[in-house]
Amino acid sequence: LSDPRLLTGREPARGLRDELRTAIAGLPESLRPPGLAIVRVGSDEAAAGYARQIIRTCKRVGVEGRELELSAGLDTHGLADRVAELGRDPQIQGIIVQFPLPGGVDAQAVAEAVPPEKDVDRVTSAAMGELFTGVETLAPATAAAVAHLLDFYAIELEGRRAVVIGRSNIVGKPVAMLLLARHATVTLCHSRTVDLAGVAATADVLIVAVGRRQMVDERYVRPGAVVIDVGTNYADGAVAGDVDFASAARKASAITPVPGGVGPLTNYLLMKNLVTLIQRGARQL
Ligand code: NDP
Repeated sequence: LSDPRLLTGREPARGLRDELRTAIAGLPESLRPPGLAIVRVGSDEAAAGYARQIIRTCKRVGVEGRELELSAGLDTHGLADRVAELGRDPQIQGIIVQFPLPGGVDAQAVAEAVPPEKDVDRVTSAAMGELFTGVETLAPATAAAVAHLLDFYAIELEGRRAVVIGRSNIVGKPVAMLLLARHATVTLCHSRTVDLAGVAATADVLIVAVGRRQMVDERYVRPGAVVIDVGTNYADGAVAGDVDFASAARKASAITPVPGGVGPLTNYLLMKNLVTLIQRGARQL
């Protein structure tokens, strides 16, 4: 097989950035700049880093990003109350709660405190229900980034076999819904899947979101398959994917690099969710 096509996130990210700048500049003056609140609990360095990246993306497209660090000592009610309070702030059009939350906190209860019309990360059960019922195509940003990348590179999905490794609410499950909506035949795999490599190797399109550094090698890849690596595993100051790129690239027809694949798109899809929610709200006024 020849070298696979590289599915990089940079080109589609540029396109999204320009599209978002135009859309945001075109919002009614009373809604500009839109406000996005990022709620962080405690002072975890990785979470602070993600928040900074989101704020940078906000600046690039004309969104007012606001970071809030809440005390790690708050319980479920305390956190939910603070999130609900933000939800009533007319300057804030979108709210992101960074997960995971401290042990003992009911994370879904805190998520449900985000008003559905401000739920940019699609964490409320109402948002998940919309995706499941096909009422709306908004999805959690990472899942939406995977779909955007596949659409941008015109990867054929209709009638094809897609395998997703990972079943989290923020990546695996919503990715499966977006692939179904594009008429793929979808299999969801997880830690209890028997013969994972064998199942993965049936895929025309393989999406990997396990959070295990370079776990997926060429044994998981059917010759000619498209491989999308969602993994971002940090070690020794560098980021590595869930796919062993050199090995998988021997069989894949197209593959995402890490870094530089799904990653650069994710925060733009967050902004896109924000704009879509604002436009939806404006239509309902
Ligand atoms: P989670 O830890 O929530 O989920 C991991 C999933 O992988 C689970 O469903 C788990 O199965 C499954 N899994 C774990 N180990 C194995 C194994 N050995 N074999 C088969 N399945 C396994 O992770 P997320 O979904 O939040 O994230 C997945 C990856 O995506 C991570 O690398 C994360 O860093 C990355 N990510 C990247 C983003 C980006 O912007 N590019 C944003 C968000 C995440 P089970 O359910 O049975 O436990």
